[in-house]
Amino acid sequence: MKYKPVIGLEIHAQLNTKTKMFCDSLNNPDEKHPNINICPICMGHPGTLPVINKAALDKVIMAGLALNCSIARDTFFERKNYFYPDLPKGYQISQYLKPLCEHGTLRLRGGKEIRITRIHLEEDAGRLQHDSGSEYSLVDYNRAGVPLMELVTEPDFETGEEVREFAQELQLLLRYLNVSDADMEKGLMRVEVNISLTNEDGSWGTKVEIKNLNSISAAAASVDYEINRQKDVLESGETIKQETRGWDDVKRATFSQRSKEEAHDYRYFPEPDLPPLHFEDAEIEALRSTLPELPAQRRERFKTQYNLPEADIELFTMNRPLGNFFEHVASELLSFEKLSHLDRPDKEHQERLYKLASNYLITELQKHLALLGASPEDTKITPESFADLVVRVFHKQISSSAAQTVLQEMFETGLSPEQIIKEKDLGQVSDAAALESVIDAVIEKNQKAAEDYKAGKEASLKFLVGMAMRESKGKANPQLLEELIKQKLK
Ligand code: ADP
Ligand code: MG
Repeated sequence: MKYKPVIGLEIHAQLNTKTKMFCDSLNNPDEKHPNINICPICMGHPGTLPVINKAALDKVIMAGLALNCSIARDTFFERKNYFYPDLPKGYQISQYLKPLCEHGTLRLRGGKEIRITRIHLEEDAGRLQHDSGSEYSLVDYNRAGVPLMELVTEPDFETGEEVREFAQELQLLLRYLNVSDADMEKGLMRVEVNISLTNEDGSWGTKVEIKNLNSISAAAASVDYEINRQKDVLESGETIKQETRGWDDVKRATFSQRSKEEAHDYRYFPEPDLPPLHFEDAEIEALRSTLPELPAQRRERFKTQYNLPEADIELFTMNRPLGNFFEHVASELLSFEKLSHLDRPDKEHQERLYKLASNYLITELQKHLALLGASPEDTKITPESFADLVVRVFHKQISSSAAQTVLQEMFETGLSPEQIIKEKDLGQVSDAAALESVIDAVIEKNQKAAEDYKAGKEASLKFLVGMAMRESKGKANPQLLEELIKQKLK
């Protein structure tokens, strides 16, 4: 294809360690006061020595393992030398020749594999604040020296959608691993896009780098925009300039920031103040054994174990606390089902129960949680009572409108459905004998409608059912009512 897009990503993620990469200043991205979490080490004072934060190494290795990377057994830190006001030491401690992790993969939903070139560990710089209209800039060094992982992919992407999916999946993975909070709005995860179009002969074109992307959707949109822009440039016979472009979120467009200066010479050399790193296989394997279930594995398991619809599975994967709550409910469902109904519900029956529980969680429970801004475990509702409620709805022991009332009450009081149903008299009457007198009374009072139905007017049946519902104060099982009235008037 003419002008095939070639896209690679560089993603930085701030690690959520307690302290910084080489000193014990706090790593707190939420610190509001500037220049609080600093010390002579991260400020680069002469005579200080860095000490490696083991937790940061472990976290990057965990990310590497989860992304199928090979982990370096012998590696070292290097100095990347440059001057910038947010870099107090005049160099950044990073990794260049031998990253901790190499040759990984992440599989997209459609099956396509994106190759991960490398993941290395480095330290973050401070933050500059340029206030428009003022003649000076401010600097906050709280972030200087915070551990940062940099992940570089091969240029395997072809669309904005693939970029979105990769970034979302990586973000989710880093959260599952408790490696990074990966919040792009807070700058905890930063995505940079490299993009070019192939030349007519299929060879790679000049690449453009896009920075300042403040969300995953901005990254995807910038790709779509840039593909069109570069195509237009090439079709008009011009050439693509190698440059760094920014993203304007309001105009939804990229704009030229600076043309790419000749390659920087960072004078990398091994950091003389830190020892080289060596890992034994056993150390790596010990870390591997602590890997939690990853998002892809969870989707797979939710499919085989519960056979839920795709959308439900996705929600329970993205929203882990809700998914965990579902699993608790699911494990309780069968015991309630056994107590009241079937000894050994078959698989299909179980799956119908799971489906109903999932529906109730996603629609009803989420409504309440959204109001509170809470997670299921923060509320008074227990998985046991939720399962109990679902089984009652399943067997039409209460109507769905009554179930809403019960749920509301469970939220507020933490009482069990049984207690609430009794207290509020919400049980659905499914006992034919109990409904007999209700039906007799309604037919007695509505002779005309009864005659009309017998003469073939279907609408009159609906009317009678409605009257009987009212007579029972909304507690009768409507299907049963209809059945009984039909029999009576036969
Ligand atoms: P640089 O030396 O400019 O940093 P790298 O080779 O380190 O370039 O690659 C940086 C990123 O750019 C990687 O994600 C890589 O996949 C991507 N990349 C490399 N060449 C191209 C290209 N021609 N078009 C698009 N992306 C590219
Ligand atoms: Mg590079």
